[in-house]
Amino acid sequence: MGSAEGEQFPINVRPITTWQFCPYCAGRLEYREVFGRKRLYCPACGNVVFREPKVGAGVLVEKDGRVLLVKRAVPPQKGRWGLPAGFMEWDESPEEAARRECLEETGLEVEITSLYGIYHYTDDFRGPGIIIIYRARVTGGTIHPGDDAAEAHFFGPDELPREIAFQTNRIALAQWKEEVKRNL
Ligand SMILES: [Zn+2]
Repeated sequence: MGSAEGEQFPINVRPITTWQFCPYCAGRLEYREVFGRKRLYCPACGNVVFREPKVGAGVLVEKDGRVLLVKRAVPPQKGRWGLPAGFMEWDESPEEAARRECLEETGLEVEITSLYGIYHYTDDFRGPGIIIIYRARVTGGTIHPGDDAAEAHFFGPDELPREIAFQTNRIALAQWKEEVKRNL
């Protein structure tokens, strides 16, 4: 069993190999086989560091056959468009996160109406994750971009911007476009 010190880590472990100490008891972590794969482990208290995917939530909001998109004002993928969405806070529900992100990025208050889809991604340098997209409808506010969004607009299925950020948005918007066309 190797220790966390001086060991060559496979690429998928690298981002947290700067962790040397257990977040629960401050014991020194080791890198060893636990539950079928190599993980950081604390021999002092038995804590296994399970790596988790990042979890994000967002909304698909339609108005007059158009979908609400925001232009990213910050990296990664700055300048590209996507659904209003963002990382969940650790202590909020996905529905709350989706509504909060929409309000922060677009100025629009929304009500969640149904689950639209759950998408896995691997194209963000901060690590792989899933994003939960809800259908939602506007209940208040006025459109005005904020937080990490530079612009917010509604786009028809044939007006979607060419520069879409992240594979999750490209997949969700292709799905939406197909549904809209099918229902015409
Ligand atoms: Zn510990």
